[in-house]
Amino acid sequence: MTGLTLHDVATGRHPVGIECDRCVRRVVVTAAALKAVAGDRRTLEEAGLVCGKCGSRAFSVTRFLSAASVRSFVRNH
Ligand SMILES: [Zn+2]
Repeated sequence: MTGLTLHDVATGRHPVGIECDRCVRRVVVTAAALKAVAGDRRTLEEAGLVCGKCGSRAFSVTRFLSAASVRSFVRNH
């Protein structure tokens, strides 16, 4: 999924999952970690998010619908 904006993260009920396209590292990021604020229409790509392991800027974004899906995102990797 692409095109998620900082606004979406800031106003969402759950953090978002990021999976690096290069090294497949998975992280869960919160609005606070991204410094996301409501009304900021930049996408995560435009905000300059990079993989903390390999530095790649190519990643997939997962939007969670529940706290349980956040846990399984990390656990199933
Ligand atoms: Zn990576």
